[in-house]
Amino acid sequence: MNYLSAKTPPVREERLGAGIAFGGTCREVQCARAGGCLNLAARTFSQTQGCQFTLSQAIINTLRNAVIIMHGPIGCGASSIGAVGTSQTFKRLRDPNAEGLIWLNSNLDEADVIGGGEGKLKEAIRFAERMFRPETILIPVSCVPALIGDDVDAVVAEMQEETAAALVPVHCSGFKTKVMATAYDDVYHGILRALVKKPERRADRRVVPDELEEVRRRYRDSRTVNVLNVSSMSRPDETELTRLLNALDLQVRFLPCYSDAEDFQYALESALNVSICGTHDDYFLHHLQTLYDIPFLIDTIPIGRKNTARWLRKIAAHFDLSQEADRLIASEEQALDEALAPFRPALRGKTAFLGGGEVRILATAEILQDLGMKIVGFKGHHYDEFAEPVFESLDDVDDVLFNVATQQPFEQINLVKRLRPDLYVGHSGGGNISAKQGLPLLPLFGPSYNYMGFSGVFEVARRIRRILANAQFNKQLARHCPLPYRDSWYAQDPFSYIKAEG
Ligand code: SF4
Repeated sequence: MNYLSAKTPPVREERLGAGIAFGGTCREVQCARAGGCLNLAARTFSQTQGCQFTLSQAIINTLRNAVIIMHGPIGCGASSIGAVGTSQTFKRLRDPNAEGLIWLNSNLDEADVIGGGEGKLKEAIRFAERMFRPETILIPVSCVPALIGDDVDAVVAEMQEETAAALVPVHCSGFKTKVMATAYDDVYHGILRALVKKPERRADRRVVPDELEEVRRRYRDSRTVNVLNVSSMSRPDETELTRLLNALDLQVRFLPCYSDAEDFQYALESALNVSICGTHDDYFLHHLQTLYDIPFLIDTIPIGRKNTARWLRKIAAHFDLSQEADRLIASEEQALDEALAPFRPALRGKTAFLGGGEVRILATAEILQDLGMKIVGFKGHHYDEFAEPVFESLDDVDDVLFNVATQQPFEQINLVKRLRPDLYVGHSGGGNISAKQGLPLLPLFGPSYNYMGFSGVFEVARRIRRILANAQFNKQLARHCPLPYRDSWYAQDPFSYIKAEG
């Protein structure tokens, strides 16, 4: 795979055959994807859609020693304002001296939509360089400059001549695709073109090379794994995955989230790139293999004991450490069984509905099944091949409902009212409506909490028991905050507006 000569990556409808509209069962969604029908489905009515530009911020906001210039009207990206508080805290967990989030906006208005916004972008780049002296200036481009035809790449090429910071344009014009996750490809496209290059090592510049140091470095590189983190991961998740990989005598480097520009160069000195979630990182990993010959592993996400064991075994096999991995997993599972025993009686038989990213909801369902809970439905933002390995960790879900919908809260409301689960596990943004239905909620992710690895299973169990035991707040919400839908909608088929083309 190499799309880097293009200004933007291909959309995921074309590259992955991804679908955003489906209503049926788990078995049917897998058949539809395999047969190519999912890619053709659409809605005759759409209540909401995701903003790609905002999703791109999920990675962009985490990068260290960087200034972000949002090129667009002042409102674009403003919904990620919550990142201002978390960005500095989470960056400082990796680097105590890290700055917080520095955001500028080129503030395009009506006159710029007619006359073009390139002048304002140049002005913003000069200001960012003079004021903050960053290593990197990231320039996410919203729909508006893309629609009016601003030549951002030409502006960047011209301004790079007078700017010390590396300029990284990120083209994420949401009107080109309905698969919001294309935003991840857009970010990686920009990073690959501007930041990823072989590092100039100090040792290379010595007149007499330090051969012993070179041998040590090569050995270290041959045991180093890059783990592609995501912004929904927490520092405790990273700590847990590091603990497990260190137990196999492997070194770990996390990227892209919370990295600085130089980290992308040193990331090329590793033996294996390991995906946390193919939905986030397959574009990046394929390119690193094509351009720098680094093998990669995209399989499952290490959430739930079976998925974590599978993820570890695949990595171990690459380094011929399968027996060591088996021993590690056996001892972890024994400790986990003892730790989970007190939670099982309270959770056995409870029902749950999960909504969010396809890979993450399926993996989290593995934890719930492990605890004796029953899954009554899923709602994935989109659907593509990366969900398939995660299904293998689940028992008896062929006939469980599966809805593919990016947001579309009206479908979720209808489904949840019919299924009446004991617990809703959901992506941020989907929880508020189910809270008004009176359901206890477990956030699908939380960048302060541990969800991954074996310790993540324990942590999720502990939190669910607490949430189910104390559900009064949402019950009161349901009593006092009615939802805006008519009774006639609840009587209708929740998938009434999903149509296959042709
Ligand atoms: S115009 Fe585009 S970038 Fe701006 S908020 Fe809307 S979808 Fe997002």
